[in-house]
Amino acid sequence: PIRADLLGNMWAQEWGNIYPLVAPAGTGDLGYDIGDLLTAQGKTPLDMVKAGENFYSSLGMAPLPETFWKRSQFLKPADREVVCHASAWDIDNKDDIRIKMCIKVNADDFITIHHELGHNYYQRAYNKQPFLYLNGANDGFHEAIGDFVALSITPQYLVDIGLLDKAKVPAADKDIGLLLRQAMDKVAFLPFGLLVDRWRWGVFDGSIQPADYNKKWTELRTQYQGIVPPGERPANAFDAGAKFHIPGNTPYTRYFLARVLQFQFYQAACKQAGWKGPLHRCSFYGNKEVGAKLNAMLEMGASKPWPDALQAFTGSREMSGKAMADYFAPLKTWLDQQNKGKPQGW
Ligand SMILES: [Zn+2]
Repeated sequence: PIRADLLGNMWAQEWGNIYPLVAPAGTGDLGYDIGDLLTAQGKTPLDMVKAGENFYSSLGMAPLPETFWKRSQFLKPADREVVCHASAWDIDNKDDIRIKMCIKVNADDFITIHHELGHNYYQRAYNKQPFLYLNGANDGFHEAIGDFVALSITPQYLVDIGLLDKAKVPAADKDIGLLLRQAMDKVAFLPFGLLVDRWRWGVFDGSIQPADYNKKWTELRTQYQGIVPPGERPANAFDAGAKFHIPGNTPYTRYFLARVLQFQFYQAACKQAGWKGPLHRCSFYGNKEVGAKLNAMLEMGASKPWPDALQAFTGSREMSGKAMADYFAPLKTWLDQQNKGKPQGW
């Protein structure tokens, strides 16, 4: 197993932050970092939110309401403690939608803004539904919308919005690097996304007793993620409590489902946009047809069983990991070569 403190993320849930350390020779240098691009142009947190809104507007969605800009928290207040964990809010079930973040000018927060706005646009799209249907088709859908939009933040998209110089678009031979960077976040997350609720449901059904809270957490982390704590943990440690969603009581399987769904949405959108070429290079930015189909799904809220909603946008009633596998297929081929004859597992 790998020590949890080596992966560039406090929960070792996404590993993309250590990409520069593991980047393959020759294909690894992507030539840009979104945070550096934003900084070089003097972009502010507010500019980043505007860029997020611009993406959704390009799909034909109405602009965010005036109240969003007045009432959201974009910056960490100087005069008081706040919860900085990014979140999206729907205050009146109509259009008082807001985000709460402490935005820093970096790549992670640029992506997170698109994620949170996905919640807000979903909330506003289904606001005509009766009260009990004011929700996502299932909670994986709610988490997947913004992520699927953020998959469209390709090098070419960054050129389109004037952030990246056209000459700096990585050549096709850098695609293994692009995909590995993406997989270290998206694929490495899957076992973590699954195990959080495995642990919590064990606590709820009594199969995990208080005396074993930390021991079982560590066991699941090793079993699913292949990671171990960096050192001996004391008997009264409560490592699970360091994850926002445990003390905050937010279900977690939604993020596992969202990882699968977002690639299905993305593949469907790219097909609708007539994209030819490798899936991971597709951006549906500016495509109103995709936007209209997406909106048809979002407007349904929770009024229909989720396979109906999935079908409305993708044509399929089945959740499937195939789109994710298709997206990463070139990387899988490359990894199989790299790992040939080497010991696997832990
Ligand atoms: Zn979310």
